[in-house]
Amino acid sequence: MTLQNKTILITAAAQGIGEASARACAAAGAKVYATDINAELLAKLDDVDGIETRVLDVTDTEAVNALAAELPDLDGLFNCAGVVHHGTVLELDDAAWDFSVNLNITSMVRMCRAFVPGLLRRAESQGAASILNMSSMASSEKGFINRTAYGATKAAVVGLTKGIAADFVAQNLRCNCIGPGTVDTPALQGRIAEAPDPVQAEKDFIARQPMGRLSTVDDLTPTIVHLLSDGSSFMTGQMVLVDGGCTI
Ligand code: NAD
Repeated sequence: MTLQNKTILITAAAQGIGEASARACAAAGAKVYATDINAELLAKLDDVDGIETRVLDVTDTEAVNALAAELPDLDGLFNCAGVVHHGTVLELDDAAWDFSVNLNITSMVRMCRAFVPGLLRRAESQGAASILNMSSMASSEKGFINRTAYGATKAAVVGLTKGIAADFVAQNLRCNCIGPGTVDTPALQGRIAEAPDPVQAEKDFIARQPMGRLSTVDDLTPTIVHLLSDGSSFMTGQMVLVDGGCTI
């Protein structure tokens, strides 16, 4: 599986799944633009071969458009940024809902609007280009307690993915999404630490994974690299679950 001669941009790449994906894509031969809102965290990727970093807040339309104008055309775009709202619909005020929608789904619309013209140029000249969107098993696939806003917005990612895939299928631009299970990342560790009983919270997260363990970021990166590579050239419009059997 190679990403030689591919230029790939990843959002939310300073830690967690995005960072691991940036490192894996670069190791597979891609030129990677690793972007994140957090400049300080992002700096640790500055010295990695094949990675160039750019500060980018995916909720900022002007910044997204400016970056698209500055960078060369992309072969791959991984929209990874997202946020978990904790609570039922009763704890979901308008501001929290709007923030979840903005970061989890509108950011992908914004990124695609800005970068699809370049992806289409590469698809025409190279015969292939690929978009990967971050969804979750907590989406149209399965409901989880205290994940109403999260599940609704991650389900919207599936619809967005299928719409984009349908629009550009004849032009060799593919679009898929990935649905991880419970992944051990700084975000998850933060949710565990904030729980009233962190030890029990960690046990509960593990208990919902039938393999009896959390996913690591390395459980995901082979699939992420595959979906951005030409090895998946006949796959488009799909939700690919990498959830350790949660949705069996
Ligand atoms: P993480 O907290 O470890 O990393 C998130 C990154 O997003 C941080 O570097 C942060 O600075 C960046 N970020 C936040 N707001 C941003 C913005 N406006 N613009 C650009 N970057 C921004 O998170 P993670 O757990 O690796 O999650 C990454 C993605 O994977 C999210 O979309 C999440 O919903 C999804 N996901 C995570 C899990 C899990 O269990 N960890 C499971 C399924 C899906």
